[in-house]
Amino acid sequence: MADPSIFTRIRSGEIPGEILLDTGRVFAIRDINPQAPLHVLVIPVAEQYRNVTELAAGNPALLAEMVAVAQQIADEHAGGEYRLIFNTGPRAAQSVFHVHAHVLGNIEENRLVG
Ligand code: ADP
Repeated sequence: MADPSIFTRIRSGEIPGEILLDTGRVFAIRDINPQAPLHVLVIPVAEQYRNVTELAAGNPALLAEMVAVAQQIADEHAGGEYRLIFNTGPRAAQSVFHVHAHVLGNIEENRLVG
């Protein structure tokens, strides 16, 4: 078995983090290095999907639940509007290989990222 990801270790309380929501299948934590006024990571509890392509192929309902959780976070913290980003692979700046969506909100400037 691979070691638990940093996100799983936050969910279990092993390392500190701010958990905003947890459905039992999907959880949301505040990003430690925010790129927008609201920057939350939405993560499936299941660790076996390394990226969104694998998740979409293996469990599309879980991907849909991640989107629903992103909307809920945006409803509560960003007036219901949000940007959703999945980095896929090191050349796209993915550093944690436990699939996660970046939810960005309250963005004032029209920049491509953050
Ligand atoms: P990148 O690091 O290039 O953004 P990812 O798409 O894999 O690549 O995103 C990992 C995210 O996890 C980063 O936005 C990073 O700030 C965040 N992160 C890393 N460690 C923690 C932590 N302990 N608590 C909250 N967020 C974290």
